[in-house]
Amino acid sequence: MTATRIDGKGFAAQMRGRIADQVAALKQEHGITPGLAVVLVGDDPASQIYVRSKHRQTVEAGMQSFEHRLPSDASQSELLALIGRLNADEQVHGILVQLPLPPHIDESEIINAIAVRKDVDGFTVANAGRLATGQRAMVPCTPLGCLMLLRDRLGDLSGKDAVVIGRSNIVGKPMAALLTAENATVTVAHSRTRDLPEVVRRADIVVAAVGLPGMVKGDWIKPGATVIDVGINRTGDGLVGDVDYDSAAQVADAITPVPGGVGPMTIACLLANTLTACCRMNGLGDPEGLTL
Ligand code: NAD
Repeated sequence: MTATRIDGKGFAAQMRGRIADQVAALKQEHGITPGLAVVLVGDDPASQIYVRSKHRQTVEAGMQSFEHRLPSDASQSELLALIGRLNADEQVHGILVQLPLPPHIDESEIINAIAVRKDVDGFTVANAGRLATGQRAMVPCTPLGCLMLLRDRLGDLSGKDAVVIGRSNIVGKPMAALLTAENATVTVAHSRTRDLPEVVRRADIVVAAVGLPGMVKGDWIKPGATVIDVGINRTGDGLVGDVDYDSAAQVADAITPVPGGVGPMTIACLLANTLTACCRMNGLGDPEGLTL
């Protein structure tokens, strides 16, 4: 069997098209332009690439993009002051602080200074708590993108066995919360999990978010499973995921490639969250087909 390749790139392009249409309508009918502010501290090369591509796609969707670049020795209080200004700026509907921040910065204090309604990454404690307790939240972009691909592929996820590998605050934990809310039976596996291959073999849905190239092998996958590979690992062979694609594709029903799977969905979901934040801030209904 060779699995269906889940086309995250194409799905994300369609989503961006729908976002651009709704942004245009918002401008025309209400004179409002959604705005996203991105804060980048220092010159980490991977972060530079992400920020550039976020800027380009924000502008292409018809939104305003505000970039704030600070030197790597920027202080905690400078950053807090900037977040304070962005919180108060009516043209800014979404605020994203590119991670990682330099080691002298208290990352958690910076993230939690972001106004909850502008927290389009969904990383504040308030949004994480809302998601965990089933209240309306800003949902972190990467797991939101994964869930959209899963729903598109499988429809109802009720009763499915899902294994999420990785328990980070930005991917694993919110992914588990989303799958639980979809009535899947969720196992969160991590670095201390005993006999990971055996745990993964139970899963109808596997979400791998670890950061180890090709860690998940084809013989870990239950025949017919759906595999979502969040990993982005730079190797001598270029970008690869956490799943050994070739062997997993022999067994799975469907699998996301790296690149071209989850990655493009993350930025599309960031734009969706910015549009959602803008609509909510202006007392308008949520945009169509872009929230859960
Ligand atoms: P992280 O380092 O914060 O967390 C990794 C998790 O993997 C931890 O919870 C750890 O317990 C678990 N882990 C480590 N070794 C393990 C092992 N041997 N077996 C099982 N679990 C193990 O990473 P993260 O920020 O969640 O990112 C994970 C991967 O996803 C990285 O490759 C990252 O680049 C990628 N990522 C991709 C996107 C995207 O847009 N596609 C977004 C965010 C992260």
